[in-house]
Amino acid sequence: MDIKEHIKRNGSITVSEFMGYALPQYYSQQEPFGAKGDFTTAPQISQVFGEMLGIWVASMWIEMGRPSDIAIVEFGPGTGTLMQDFLRGTANVKGFHGSAEIHMVESSSRLQNVQKQNLNGLHDKISWHDNIATLPHKKSFYIGNEFFDALPIKQYVKTLDGWCERIVDVENNGEMGFGLSPVCSFSDSFDSEHPDAPEGSFLEINQAAISIMKDIAKNITEYGGGGVFIDYGYSHYGYRDTLQAVKEHKFHDVLTDIGNADVTAHVDFVALAGVLADNDINSYSIATQKDFLLSLGIQVRSEMLLKGISDSKKSDEIKSAVMRLIDPKQMGNLFKVLTFVG
Ligand code: SAH
Repeated sequence: MDIKEHIKRNGSITVSEFMGYALPQYYSQQEPFGAKGDFTTAPQISQVFGEMLGIWVASMWIEMGRPSDIAIVEFGPGTGTLMQDFLRGTANVKGFHGSAEIHMVESSSRLQNVQKQNLNGLHDKISWHDNIATLPHKKSFYIGNEFFDALPIKQYVKTLDGWCERIVDVENNGEMGFGLSPVCSFSDSFDSEHPDAPEGSFLEINQAAISIMKDIAKNITEYGGGGVFIDYGYSHYGYRDTLQAVKEHKFHDVLTDIGNADVTAHVDFVALAGVLADNDINSYSIATQKDFLLSLGIQVRSEMLLKGISDSKKSDEIKSAVMRLIDPKQMGNLFKVLTFVG
């Protein structure tokens, strides 16, 4: 049923329910990625991105003494480009591919098929999962780019009546609009955790992301491993509304053209790191994408790539793609990287 009809019949829904409705529709129908789609992600900008993640995981694997039976798990792999570059980039790390099985967690069956085509022949043990429930319990490395931003969030706004959940409703003029739930509360932990948040502050809770991080943390505590997750997000609370929609590479009204635009929110890296700390995984860090990629040697890697190329247009493209990933004015600072080992 149309979401507007649903609200008219059954009453308002929360922001989280709204995202839960719009997103599966979007990922199952649209081609979100690349110049002809709605947005471009780092793996599509440069092969070096996936290669760098491969280097990070392979180095951790070597540091751990080259364990012989590991899982590499990618969440929300999109077109599978990141894993292609990851596998190509680590093909020469002795024993690494043979020790690993690859697990892809992807809720859209359309995208699972795209990934299967793109990864055909790159590794003999790749399997797909609709969700986290069927992942193996063994030493695992978890990776994901722009995954957590695609999960539904709940939003709360601080008012004189307490923290009120933000809802989506159909207004008197027949248009959809945002509102606040009439039931607000001063009693939840928000007040103790955010005593100085001024009136009008937003808090955003990504319960699905937290629950996935809990499962990851539990598995790592028991079997060891690590992870690297990259996303646009914040490492300090801004108390702002970060819900956004993007269509054809431009910001778009969240409540217009529902299911045809990508709706996301910035990722709360403080909350994700908090889950690790709660599970006694204290070896984690949050860095900017710029610092993360530079520390792994992205510049050396791009110079190596450039050496093989004589066409100056091609080499300019490579340089500007790498720049786009690390430049603080482009993706370098907005994108954060959470890494952890345990
Ligand atoms: N990592 C890719 C794609 C990012 S888009 C890239 O960087 O290009 C988000 C991806 O997460 C899509 O593949 C989408 O289908 C998938 N996704 C969204 N919600 C999901 C969920 N709940 N479980 C698994 N995958 C999900």
